[in-house]
Amino acid sequence: MVVNDGSNLIRYHMNKRQFILHCLRLNKNSYLLAIILIFIVNWLQVEIPHYIQLAIDLIDDSSQVGHDKLTTYVSIVVVMSALMIVVRIFSRIYALNPGRITEASLKNDLLKKLNYLPNSFHEKFASGRLISILNNDLSGVRLLFGTGFMQLANVIFALSLTPLWMWNISPELTLYSAIPISVGFVIFRYGFKRMKKLHAEQLIRLQELSVQLMNFLSGIDLIKSQQMSPWVQSEAEKCNQQLLECKLKITRIQTFIMPVLEFANNLMKILILGLGGVMLLSHQLTIGEITAFLSYSVLLALPLTQLGRIATIYQRGMVSIDSVQKVLNSDIPAQDLQTLSDEQIDAFKGNTLSVKNLSFRYHQDQPLVLDDISFDIPAGKKVGVLGSIGSGKTTLVNCLNHHLDVAKGSIFLGEKDITTISRNDFRRYIKTVTQSPYLFSATIEENICFGSENITKSQVEEVLNLSQLAGDVSRFEKGDQTLVGEKGIMLSGGQKQRLSIARALLKPSDLIIMDDVLSAVDYETERKILQGVFSRLKNQAALVVSHRVSALEYMDEIIVLSEGRLIAKGSHHFLLKNSPYYYETWQLQQNEAEDKTC
Ligand code: ADP
Repeated sequence: MVVNDGSNLIRYHMNKRQFILHCLRLNKNSYLLAIILIFIVNWLQVEIPHYIQLAIDLIDDSSQVGHDKLTTYVSIVVVMSALMIVVRIFSRIYALNPGRITEASLKNDLLKKLNYLPNSFHEKFASGRLISILNNDLSGVRLLFGTGFMQLANVIFALSLTPLWMWNISPELTLYSAIPISVGFVIFRYGFKRMKKLHAEQLIRLQELSVQLMNFLSGIDLIKSQQMSPWVQSEAEKCNQQLLECKLKITRIQTFIMPVLEFANNLMKILILGLGGVMLLSHQLTIGEITAFLSYSVLLALPLTQLGRIATIYQRGMVSIDSVQKVLNSDIPAQDLQTLSDEQIDAFKGNTLSVKNLSFRYHQDQPLVLDDISFDIPAGKKVGVLGSIGSGKTTLVNCLNHHLDVAKGSIFLGEKDITTISRNDFRRYIKTVTQSPYLFSATIEENICFGSENITKSQVEEVLNLSQLAGDVSRFEKGDQTLVGEKGIMLSGGQKQRLSIARALLKPSDLIIMDDVLSAVDYETERKILQGVFSRLKNQAALVVSHRVSALEYMDEIIVLSEGRLIAKGSHHFLLKNSPYYYETWQLQQNEAEDKTC
């Protein structure tokens, strides 16, 4: 077996530190360049006041040498300022792009992972929650690895270089300036701790709201027809209100921290002016040095006020990483990460799918839904499954196509246990048409061709004819170019079913399962569709599931399910004679059909 080329994130569990390192490594060259450029920007920022200081101290000097020096310093300031603009632009490009690249790469990894994750994962993770992770949490990760990185690097350089330059002018004044800044930091730390919990809560609330909206939108028809709108509105408002309260708490802390940090900066300026004035009078400092010192205090103001935003980005980003990792670290069954070669898949042809003593229950504490089922679907044969509603037909289908996790040793393809084949490979052999078909918001033709390449118009027409949909389509103004709307809302239940049959017939696999797909068509159409399907599937096997005997009469073999047990199997004529349940169901449905035609 060949190992699939999925990325590390799909296959391996990573702890948070490894995950962050992985994301940083993705853009290591950009980050390296960004760090160098941000350092240069900050170095220019502290150098410029130094030359301004030298220039100011020369203002009183009327000598030619003094004038020449002044001109040089002013020119240096102009060149440095222009250079700073250019370097800053590039530093932003190299620091911000990695955030977007990381977001796009993680989105791909998440989508790939979702493709591999088994059904049991989706039972635990609602679609709304996944959508929220793909949007809100990935935005949080983007900000962390883009804006967050850039601002952090800026703050580190600004807070380390600026005090050094200040120290060079006056260590004493620098120490005094540190007092209000330290007080500002203490208050900032307190707010930082409180915000951490709130950011985690905010993302959970966003996920809850997304789950709720998905549920409401999926059931919008029911909500309207059952007049449930007031209840839905109040439920959505409750969720929205909780989110709003959480956001308001965060804003309150932010609006408290920002002025405190600004106040600390202003206090520093007052100290510089007061103490610096005294030092000026005692000739310990020049007017140029005080001007430079004030410029440095302005330079410190920006990173200080940025601290609040960095804290927000950091905390949101960390919580987002947790959510993203919950999906990326979910287990994929080992066999699903293997890929068979085309030759190995071709070798499946001609094999029998055998069910051997299959039992299944959804949860440990629930009764068996399938109890000791055994039967075969030989290559090319047509097998029917009859059973009343709730007898376990769909569960059997979902075991056969490995949608559900079945026990080892219960279903075999030839000699091979299906639990040892990846689901992706297995589905190249088996295709399922479900009773509630999913249609994409696209045209009829696109819905048929989706996922298949190089399909001609005549192939589409052929499957439309076979599935008895061609007549309906010709009556639509735009024919097969008609848009079916979201989830096929423009089509009737029977049309949706026939469209999904047409899709399956376009490139039939070796075994096609049709799970009660003819329930929404009349008996005559059902007969014609089955004729069309069987003429197309001469060499392929088919498993047709139905609660209507009429749909199964022409099958090679029919198995009868009742309360999860296989109570009879054989041909239609055999069962009429030997299975009282089958006979009674057939007679009942014959009478129903006659009543309808009268
Ligand atoms: P059929 O297709 O014959 O109508 P199903 O296979 O859908 O029957 O259902 C058989 C039994 O399994 C029913 O009692 C149903 O309630 C139960 N069942 C189906 N799906 C689930 C599930 N996801 N979790 C728990 N029980 C389920």
